[in-house]
Amino acid sequence: MAVRPILEYPDTRLALRADPVSEFDGRIATIAEDLVETLHAHDSIGLCAPQIDERLQILVMDHSGNQSDPQVFINPVIRARSRYGLIEERCLSVPDLSTLVFRATAVHVRAFNVKGEAFERELNGMPAVCLQHEMDHFEGKLLADRINWLRRRRLNASLRRRAVAEQQSAENRAGVPLP
Ligand code: ZN
Repeated sequence: MAVRPILEYPDTRLALRADPVSEFDGRIATIAEDLVETLHAHDSIGLCAPQIDERLQILVMDHSGNQSDPQVFINPVIRARSRYGLIEERCLSVPDLSTLVFRATAVHVRAFNVKGEAFERELNGMPAVCLQHEMDHFEGKLLADRINWLRRRRLNASLRRRAVAEQQSAENRAGVPLP
């Protein structure tokens, strides 16, 4: 198991579609384990394979609050949605953004576990919202695609400022004189 780096917007790899898993082998189990470890390292509630640069339909969630209940969903399909509402969402791949998204807050999902066994589950509240958010990643769709151009311009400007600050602090650490 390993904590893997998370791709961040505007990395164009995040805009690619993820393929369904066709063979449930050791590689898939390792990706799922890495996702859980990376999720817990960031103290987050949801993460998916495209965010760690694996273009496969694997997502993990843990809503226990104490990292005790990681759940893996492979090739998830939502079979029913209900109770729509506006929910505030954040994303590890778009760190400076939180935005309201209109979604179902109750879903019925069918998916596979790492052994390739199908299961069905009813999810309510944040787990339902989180699942849909992670499934958006499978389509290459990010929270940054859901905001208007003005907010996106501000987001891009703040990311540029952060990149410049990070580069300067890296140069300072390396002892390179600033211009
Ligand atoms: Zn996300």
